[in-house]
Amino acid sequence: MGSNSCLNFAITHHCVYLSPSFSPNSKLHNPNPNHNQFLLSRSSFIPIATSSFALHSNHTLSHPRSKKLPLRNAPNFYVAASAKAVPLKVMISGAPASGKGTQCELITQKYGLVHIAAGDLLRVEVAAASENGKRAKEYMEKGELVPDEIVVMMVKERLLQPDSQEKGWLLDGYPRSSSQAAALEDFGIHPDIFILLEVPEDNLVERVVGRRLDPLTGKIYHLKYSPPESEEIASRLTQRFDDTEERVKLRLHTHHQNVEAVLSTYKDITVKAGMTNFSGWLISG
Ligand code: ADP
Repeated sequence: MGSNSCLNFAITHHCVYLSPSFSPNSKLHNPNPNHNQFLLSRSSFIPIATSSFALHSNHTLSHPRSKKLPLRNAPNFYVAASAKAVPLKVMISGAPASGKGTQCELITQKYGLVHIAAGDLLRVEVAAASENGKRAKEYMEKGELVPDEIVVMMVKERLLQPDSQEKGWLLDGYPRSSSQAAALEDFGIHPDIFILLEVPEDNLVERVVGRRLDPLTGKIYHLKYSPPESEEIASRLTQRFDDTEERVKLRLHTHHQNVEAVLSTYKDITVKAGMTNFSGWLISG
């Protein structure tokens, strides 16, 4: 379930370098986010613009056209520092239950970024039963995108708050359409890197339907793959109202419809991380 090694990255002015960083069979929650991380030295950086890499289950990074690199642990996205000391701005996109939540947690911890999730912002409005929240819920229940007039300003305002400006941000689940991407560009808001997690759909539905939240700790469980440690925890677990089989299928459909449109805006800074059939991840730029 998910992946418990952090993606490491940094940006230069002209290119992004990376090494893949996934452990695909790990549980949803990672008790030790620092475990299994191996940071490449600057001299080991690999430009992604012209290459793709396969991460095998023995955690050795191999490259189709070059010798194996001496990576003993789960590698990470890791890139050279920017010439200018500006806060990092990252976007991440992935289907429901693609491991995005786990990666967001690890990336924000590791790089000290502010995590801004469009879905979370919307759920706050829904819980507050605000006018926007009531309207948003109608769309969220159908697994459809909430209209731009609600989402765009909500996200923009959050991105412009002082903590996001000072620390940098990881924007999760936004933009999901070309119009949302265009709105950000119009506001002069542009990410350094766009990460797309690609997971085969076969097991995504199962992951979503079994997913539960502990409202007390914020920890995510899966009834089958990452069950709660005690009866007490089990009794207080909640399920997102849209984590049903019917709704996740709609959300997946919406995700696929929109992802291509968004990618065209960020094609020069996109990193795709896709699961392979040999228990690893294939990273390409
Ligand atoms: P998921 O990644 O599983 O779709 P999210 O929490 O990101 O879960 O989103 C939940 C719902 O919130 C979506 O199904 C959609 O209705 C709405 N939503 C989230 N992000 C956006 C967005 N950028 N634009 C419009 N609607 C959104």
